[in-house]
Amino acid sequence: MRITIDTAKCSGHARCWATAPEVFDLDDNGYALPVSQEVPADREAAARAGERACPERAITVE
Ligand code: SF4
Repeated sequence: MRITIDTAKCSGHARCWATAPEVFDLDDNGYALPVSQEVPADREAAARAGERACPERAITVE
């Protein structure tokens, strides 16, 4: 499983990070970064929850 964050859509709400801090990190300006682009199996549910939490639909998990 892989995470992609569309930086043009990310508005820095930090809801992904608040929902799944083990999967999403924030840069110095509060915009999202994946902790790791490749998501281990035991964090896939958290990655999906973070994807759903993003109001900008900036996160793709596939
Ligand atoms: S919830 Fe979406 S818009 Fe907000 S920081 Fe995360 S990726 Fe960016």
